This record gives sequence, structure tokens and C-alpha cells, in this order.
Amino acid sequence: MTVAEPVAEPVAEPAAEPAAGPVADAVAAGRLPGRVWFYSNYHCNLVCTYCLTESGPKVARRELSRDQMVEGARQARELGFTELGVTGGETFLMPWLPEALAEMAGSLPVVVLTNGTLFGRRLLDELEALAGLPVALQISLDRPDPDANDAMRGPQNFRKVVAAIPELVGRGITVRIATTVESIDDAELDRLCALHRDLGVPDDDHVIRPIVARGRALDQGLGVHAALPELPAELTITADGAFWSPFGPTVRSGALDTDLLITRTTQPLSVPAEAQLRLLDDRPQGEDAALNIR
Ligand code: SF4
Repeated sequence: MTVAEPVAEPVAEPAAEPAAGPVADAVAAGRLPGRVWFYSNYHCNLVCTYCLTESGPKVARRELSRDQMVEGARQARELGFTELGVTGGETFLMPWLPEALAEMAGSLPVVVLTNGTLFGRRLLDELEALAGLPVALQISLDRPDPDANDAMRGPQNFRKVVAAIPELVGRGITVRIATTVESIDDAELDRLCALHRDLGVPDDDHVIRPIVARGRALDQGLGVHAALPELPAELTITADGAFWSPFGPTVRSGALDTDLLITRTTQPLSVPAEAQLRLLDDRPQGEDAALNIR
């Protein structure tokens, strides 16, 4: 067992000049969503039935480095973006993630998506440094009953998640719950909401979103159609390029989907950001994204 390294303090940022430029203008006008996403990795300890990225323990990892994410966060703020997202794969398989989150939060608020199954004592201790920082952990929890929840996500998922959430909340860490379902009836939803309140997560931090028909979900005949016109234009950076949305860099039959690829160039961040703006400007007026998925 290795000794947990201390989590870096966020870099104190000087009072910044308001960002200026085309990205800042588009974000301020509400034309471009303010969040930039980073895919930290594609591997996962789970193999969920509806996984968009076909993640699992043995897939190609497609990792971003810690430096790419921290520097990307800094550039995002300079350009005028207002929020950051981190997703995967299971993000907390990256051992440097707690430190990177603390550093990224020195630039902009961060939400990090996780399956919530890896929060053993050592990781919980590392995450204590995130308390009070603008970092939210968004944990997947689909159903209020273990069997129904675990049918799509794997054995023991429910048990681990409901154990982890109070541990995180008790350490002062902001937790959101994401419920990803084809459908859920009112009674089941009521029980799920009662559960997340019991776990310390308020209603405002519970999001319900549809399964998107890409990756493994498409093979299973699950989910809603989502191509460029349906998806909010949230710039998404991966090891393989920049995409239109976090629902873009999905994987099917082991190959990365490229229908929503904007450019292979991800550095400096202004290159994909301005390329996405040009694509937005080419869209007819009124063609706003139809799917509001977070
Ligand atoms: S849906 Fe999330 S937790 Fe499940 S296999 Fe995919 S990346 Fe892992």
C-alpha cells in the first residue's frame, strides 16, 4: 500500500480581468454553454449495460494527463468559459484526480462524474481537501432498490453507492446524484428521492436524464437518438480530439465515434473553442439543442 499524497491546495487566483473575446462574448450572450468537459480516461471497474463509451476494465484507456486537464482548465477560464466537467470511464481510477480537481477548482467550478464505487478510506481521506472548494461529485444512482439498480450497473453497485454518499457529504463534499433511466414511474421516483434526501443530497442536486442511444446502449436497443442538432454545444476534450458534446466521443465496437468530432487539435483550447463557435454560427436560427441532458 502506498501512502496517500497530500491533495494540492488550489492555486490562489488573482482577481481576474473579465475574459474578452469571441468565446467570452458567446458564453455571456447564452449562445455557447459555459461548460468545458474533459474525458480523463475511458477504462472503468464496471461494465454497465447502457454505457456510451463501452467502458470496462480492459478497454483502451485514452487518458488525458493531469497537466492537460489543469492547463485546459486555466485556458478555459481565460477564454471566458464558466464551468468545468470531468467524465470518463471511471474518473477516480486516475490516481492523481483529487489533486487535479483541487487545482482545476482554482480556475473554475468543477463537476466530476463518478460511479461512486471506489470510495474506500484512503480515497475519502484524499478527498477531504475538496471540502469547501467549488467541486461537486456527480454519482450515478438509478433506482431505489438494489436489484433493479444493479441489473444495469453490476453487482454491489447500489450498496457501495449508498455507503459512499454519506461519507462524502459528512466530509463537506458536494454530492449530486444522476439518475439515468429509460423511464421511471412516480412511485419509484418518490422512493428514489426519499433515499437521496436520507443520504444527504437535496432535491436541487438530483438530476434525471435519459439514456442516450450510443455505444453499448445502441447495441441494447436502449435510449434516445442524439446527434448534433439534439445536443447542447458543450466543448469536450479527449485524448483523441475535441468534440461537440460530452455525448460525442462515444465508442462502438471498440472504435471511437467521430460523427461529433470538431477537430483533432485540442491545444491551445482556443482552437477547438473557436471551431465550435464557427459551427454554431453556421446553424440556422432557432435550431437550439432539443435534449437538455446534464
Ligand atoms: S456507465 Fe459509467 S460506470 Fe458504467 S461502465 Fe460506463 S463509465 Fe463505467
